[in-house]
Amino acid sequence: MKKMTQQSKSKVGRLTKSTQSKAKNSVSASDLSSYLAKYLNVAKIKDYCPNGLQVQGKPIIKTIVSGVTASMALIEEAIAIKADAILVHHGWFWKNDDARIVGQLHNRLKLLMDHDINLFAYHLPLDVHPELGNNAQLAKVMGWKPLSGVKQGLIEDPLILDGLIWQGRTDASQKTLGQLARSMASRLGRDPLVIGDLKKPIQTIAWCTGGAQGYINQAISMKVDAYISGEVSEQTFHAARESGVAYIAAGHHATERYGIAALGGHVAKQFGLKHHFVDIFNPI
Ligand SMILES: [Zn+2]
Repeated sequence: MKKMTQQSKSKVGRLTKSTQSKAKNSVSASDLSSYLAKYLNVAKIKDYCPNGLQVQGKPIIKTIVSGVTASMALIEEAIAIKADAILVHHGWFWKNDDARIVGQLHNRLKLLMDHDINLFAYHLPLDVHPELGNNAQLAKVMGWKPLSGVKQGLIEDPLILDGLIWQGRTDASQKTLGQLARSMASRLGRDPLVIGDLKKPIQTIAWCTGGAQGYINQAISMKVDAYISGEVSEQTFHAARESGVAYIAAGHHATERYGIAALGGHVAKQFGLKHHFVDIFNPI
């Protein structure tokens, strides 16, 4: 992991010397990569994909597209918008992926490289970021108040991934499990799957966006009234029922839109770029 990141950095480093621009409303791919590495604390976070510039494209970036996943549909939208870079939460080259450039990866990579578009991906560093991260941004959308005194979103030990699960309180309109589920449905535009008694009073919650149903036992040990993530597994049902901690699966995609959109907005403002958040439909 670390090795991959260093490789991509050194490649860009060479590129920068000859092509760095001081023009307004643009940033070099290298400078954007360095800025985001620092801003998202990339070097300190152990992950199972390379975080940063995953595929090098044109050296100067003026227009960026942000989206949840580097799918073919997102690349096509980026081409239509004439974007110079794509910024995603789910990039490519995951730890156990087939290393060959064949099939789906070939098709995506070819289209991206034919159009000279940079691909930047930030996975766990974006999930846990205390302000622009997925957990932080979901709380903002939902009106949840993160508990003070808890180190939210900070990874103390990269092996344990402490801080991936946030704790907090629901807002005044979400006092029962049914109200909380309805509020999620209306604010995220997707009906969640709910496990538990809809009349159950809810005060304290824990959440981790995306596919974090496997952390339900950590949420149970936090003694919260409900745990919220994106997806659900067969065993999640039994863990929720037997512990009495309600569970809401609000959608992997639906819970992870907000971090990358916020990050895109942030870098656009920082460097004066044009930014489009593109929401590719995904019911999962
Ligand atoms: Zn995810």
